[in-house]
Amino acid sequence: MRSCFKLFLLKQLIIIPGLPNILSNPIEYLKGVGPQRAELLKKELGIFTFRDLLEHFPYRHVDKTKINRVADINFQTEYIQVAGIIKNIGVIGNKNARRLTARLEDKTGSLELTWFQGISWVQKTLQSGHPYLVYGKVSFFQNKPQIIHPEIELLTQEKPEANTNGRVGQGKSFLEPVYPSTEKLKARGLGGRQIGKLTQVLVGMLREKDIPENLPITVLKPLKLADRYTAYRQIHFPPDTSSYDESVRRLKFEELFMAQLRMNMLRSNRHRFSRGVVFDKVGELFNSFYKNYLPFQLTGAQKRVVKEIRMDTGRGKQMNRLLQGDVGSGKTIVAVLTMLLAIDNGYQACLMAPTEILARQHFSTVSELLAELAIPVKLLTGSTRAAERKKILKELLEGELKILIGTHAVIEEVVQFNNLGIVIIDEQHRFGVAQRARLWQKAGIPPHILVMTATPIPRTLAMTAYGDLDYSVIDELPPGRQPVTTVHRYESQRSRVMDFLRAEVAKGRQVYIIFPLIEESDKLDYENLMRGYETVKGYFPEPKYWISMVHGRQPGEQKELNMKRFVEGDTQIMVSTTVIEVGVNVPNATVMVIESAEKFGLSQLHQLRGRVGRGADKSYCILLSGQKLGNEARERIRIMCTTSNGFEIAEKDLELRGPGDIEGTRQSGVLNFKLANIVHDKPLLELAKKMSTGILEGDPDLVSAENLQLKRFLEEQKDNVIWSKIS
Ligand code: ADP
Ligand code: MG
Repeated sequence: MRSCFKLFLLKQLIIIPGLPNILSNPIEYLKGVGPQRAELLKKELGIFTFRDLLEHFPYRHVDKTKINRVADINFQTEYIQVAGIIKNIGVIGNKNARRLTARLEDKTGSLELTWFQGISWVQKTLQSGHPYLVYGKVSFFQNKPQIIHPEIELLTQEKPEANTNGRVGQGKSFLEPVYPSTEKLKARGLGGRQIGKLTQVLVGMLREKDIPENLPITVLKPLKLADRYTAYRQIHFPPDTSSYDESVRRLKFEELFMAQLRMNMLRSNRHRFSRGVVFDKVGELFNSFYKNYLPFQLTGAQKRVVKEIRMDTGRGKQMNRLLQGDVGSGKTIVAVLTMLLAIDNGYQACLMAPTEILARQHFSTVSELLAELAIPVKLLTGSTRAAERKKILKELLEGELKILIGTHAVIEEVVQFNNLGIVIIDEQHRFGVAQRARLWQKAGIPPHILVMTATPIPRTLAMTAYGDLDYSVIDELPPGRQPVTTVHRYESQRSRVMDFLRAEVAKGRQVYIIFPLIEESDKLDYENLMRGYETVKGYFPEPKYWISMVHGRQPGEQKELNMKRFVEGDTQIMVSTTVIEVGVNVPNATVMVIESAEKFGLSQLHQLRGRVGRGADKSYCILLSGQKLGNEARERIRIMCTTSNGFEIAEKDLELRGPGDIEGTRQSGVLNFKLANIVHDKPLLELAKKMSTGILEGDPDLVSAENLQLKRFLEEQKDNVIWSKIS
């Protein structure tokens, strides 16, 4: 009895921690796959397991009972399914343009079928004189209908022949799934429709326990969502289109909801359990600066954000905050006030910038602002000399140095603070930052982190990719700013553009001319810039005009000298690559010319435009482009000429490029949704956010009975690492 009980316990121990799920089976074990096809499925589609196949969703369904007649095809016809006898199979054309053609005849007419690829395989398998079922997209060649690369299969007995009303059966439809596939797979008999034979086998094997429900009833009920088991089966094999739609809705919601929940839990756990240094008093430095040295009145938005930061840093929890504010909205002063808050509470502060130029600029701005308060501020970059560096490191460690400003150099191992209270990271995307932040977490209580960005993040993206951060927005520009006038000019209008620049320079203004960084090689970009520089020089000869040039290949000192000359007004023109993009502040510059503007992305164009319009004078942005423009480039330029609202631009950018391409989010993995798309499924995303917030409010640790399956699912996902995929 006793040993029996032991065995029972042992079994429980072995079985409970990872109930072997049929979905984890390697794909080669599925009937009809085998080792060779398995290799291909892995390589071509990333399908390693039963689960991967289950999650390889069809991109459309074909109603197999609906067969058109060839005579019904007209110029409006798109996809059709026809049945008929195949004839006249043959290869035509020469070696370079070979194609295989065949004729498909039904009782009403004939249609040409064409293959450019896989010719020999298709030729081998097609049988002249036999009936086939053919599906594909109709196109016209010399006014005759044809289908290129049709999906084709031998018409067996049970498959219907076309009849006059184009339908068989009594109104009962059969929706057959069609899957994404590749040429290689097609050549091995695993085309878009044939993969369906595999999913059919798989779905037939699955029981409800294999796909257990993971959403609580409190979510399923009010949203009228399909249950998980049904949704997974019916997204592949729906009885009708409405059950397909319901399945898609359910599975998309699940994806978005789980992502939201994970983000919300991270944030709420930080709020509840993290430890943070306490900035609980607003002290002498802050007050004295605020009263006596603030160079302007803060905008309402700036005041609000400073308050949010004060509240957040006073609670004894670590702040992890994203501060968004459009270019020129005045984030620097918020950073300065936050650093003073830290110093007043006995801590050191660190401000990190992405480039040397920007770090230097911050250093001079901050030193100037704080000059009267006698707060020690130092700059540390890659080009800081050894002796100076040594001194800085010593002062930091002893706590004498209060503010360190720099590039990535500030996070090197050797840089040790005495008591770092806050790290402010300017103009950086967050994903690299997350790892960097860890560097400061080694010792004791981690410092607060404030990430500032002028790249506006669309709301949907903020919710998904940045959902674990708290965030503040400066949504108001300082008073008196004039909007920048943006125009599009073609290359052919260059000399008129240059005339305009001369007129501005004659008024004492300064001008930026930016060249793209686009070629595959540094060298080509460099040559492109040099050619541009020579052209500009031709229009603006010395000694009447002086030009600064800044690019990525220059040594730091040269860059700095060129920048300095421009900042101080010694040069009227700045020729540069996009290294100038972020942060640079020269209020006297009134014109931004962007060469080959069609080659820039929207957010980059917006950033660049933000370099002008920073002073009291009317400013201009001129987008120069070649004569020929693609549709997307034309649209980007149009958007730039019609709006200057960064958030609007970011939304458009997201629409045009899709979330996968937005800088900084690609590696994050959080946007790798299989079905959902945060642009098109915005309403569902909002719903997922609302629901997940609601659940966590009532049950932050998901311990109540109705949330247990949810918790279990999240935990399983966490260690759902499939090693064969990683090698
Ligand atoms: P960004 O948010 O792009 O980093 P900056 O902090 O560089 O913007 O500020 C842009 C310019 O606006 C600077 O010249 C700054 O001095 C000025 N500025 C910032 N806040 C105000 C304000 N409240 N009133 C007037 N000028 C301001
Ligand atoms: Mg800035």
